[in-house]
Amino acid sequence: RILSHQVQRGVKLMEGIKNIIAVASGKGGVGKSTTAVNLALALAKEGAKVGMLDADIYGPSQPRMLGISGKPTSKDGKKMEPMEGHGIKAMSIGFLIDDETPMVWRGPMVMQALEQLLSDTRWGELDYLVVDLPPGTGDTQLTLAQKVPVSGAVIVTTPQDIALLDARKGLKMFEKVGVPILGIIENMSFYICPKCGNEDDIFGHGGGAAMAEQDGVEFLGAIPLDRSIRNEADNGAPTVVAEPDSRLAKIYLELARHV
Ligand code: ADP
Repeated sequence: RILSHQVQRGVKLMEGIKNIIAVASGKGGVGKSTTAVNLALALAKEGAKVGMLDADIYGPSQPRMLGISGKPTSKDGKKMEPMEGHGIKAMSIGFLIDDETPMVWRGPMVMQALEQLLSDTRWGELDYLVVDLPPGTGDTQLTLAQKVPVSGAVIVTTPQDIALLDARKGLKMFEKVGVPILGIIENMSFYICPKCGNEDDIFGHGGGAAMAEQDGVEFLGAIPLDRSIRNEADNGAPTVVAEPDSRLAKIYLELARHV
């Protein structure tokens, strides 16, 4: 009975939202949030109506990356209006607490907060709701997979073995709970020296593609390690909007076409 209740809630939640895309990683720090925001902005640039749900309750990054400050308001005292940045709608726990307050919460409270961000936001009509998940295979991933009809998950990894191992765990978890894997993105894939043009595979080469092949999922593409990707996301105008015609923006646009 619990399950059917959850499915019903999920279906209700989907009203007006055509696709829910979860962006996941096995480890923290591999560039999941940066990739998620650039993908969301790339989808919006192609003309889609896009929302971003920052599901990382302990470490929300999207307010900063989307350059949004202020608090959401409510017109009817029931649902929050999402915030807006660079043409996409966004909701994050980061809008509701101040920057320096840690969320000292146990799991159930985190799950409750996540559910509220998701269902108490007036998302309106969306072609895509991109969900920036926390790293790993914990409560948040399970809650989302069970309560929401997720269209598919994108796994972000860096090429070194230790990250790939954890990425594979993430992949298996989604398979277990019946969420389709849209594919793997390898971030920080290589570095091109801006002075001499030398290309260096700092974290190794080809791990993401090899993993995709082994696990029978699609390899969506590789993103280089590049100072401007970090700078721009830190400054609240990610690469796709900061330098829309650059080689890097084209990489994100190409990835978004495959999602
Ligand atoms: P995660 O969400 O996996 O924890 P973040 O997206 O927060 O990772 O990225 C971690 C750090 O790495 C951030 O400072 C971000 O700007 C930087 N970063 C992410 N991807 C790249 C990249 N391709 N090139 C350079 N810096 C990157």
